[in-house]
Amino acid sequence: MLNIVIFGAPGSGKGTQSDNLIKTYNLFHISTGDVLRDNIKRGTELGAIAKAYIDKGQLIPDNLMIDILASVLDDHREEAANGVIFDGFPRTIAQAEALETMLQERGTSVTTVVGLEVPEQELIDRILLRGKLTGRSDDNMDTVKNRLGVYHNQTSPLKEFYQQRGLYQSIEGTGTIEEIFDRIQAVINPLLEA
Ligand code: AMP
Repeated sequence: MLNIVIFGAPGSGKGTQSDNLIKTYNLFHISTGDVLRDNIKRGTELGAIAKAYIDKGQLIPDNLMIDILASVLDDHREEAANGVIFDGFPRTIAQAEALETMLQERGTSVTTVVGLEVPEQELIDRILLRGKLTGRSDDNMDTVKNRLGVYHNQTSPLKEFYQQRGLYQSIEGTGTIEEIFDRIQAVINPLLEA
């Protein structure tokens, strides 16, 4: 199985590059942000809880997020047979530790972590542009500041967590979508040959 964590700040291109990865490597895509937005759209109880956090740019509590991820994994075992791309999860050390255990219990592990590195001003420009194009409610200036703060405080320590495990691959996340995907493939393809 090829289990890829795609990692980076909001606006770093995780969703865009996930689309390329899914097509090229036939992986099952789990975007926790998409799962939450889908629940909001369908008006579920989870959606109502999630909306309050998302609109403020805060993270959904770890225990809730970890339960959601476990149930998505268990509901899609067949589609996930080749591997999974984890997009937007983990976002905290507690989530990363839970993911290790969860995958271990299912006889697998994280193969690699693709870390998209993008300068802060470009992140802000991209997110505000996406807000204009898609109407995504948390892509506005007020929320963006919070989301970047949350990223620096709670999520960026995961870089070291995965570096310590020898899993972190730093990718320059600027340039065209194709250029960035070429850089990603250059780190994934050797893993397939190994
Ligand atoms: P995203 O689409 O990945 O940028 O996620 C949008 C929002 O959903 C985030 O700002 C969080 O409020 C929430 N969210 C998504 N994934 C997680 C996660 N793994 N842990 C906590 N909150 C999350």
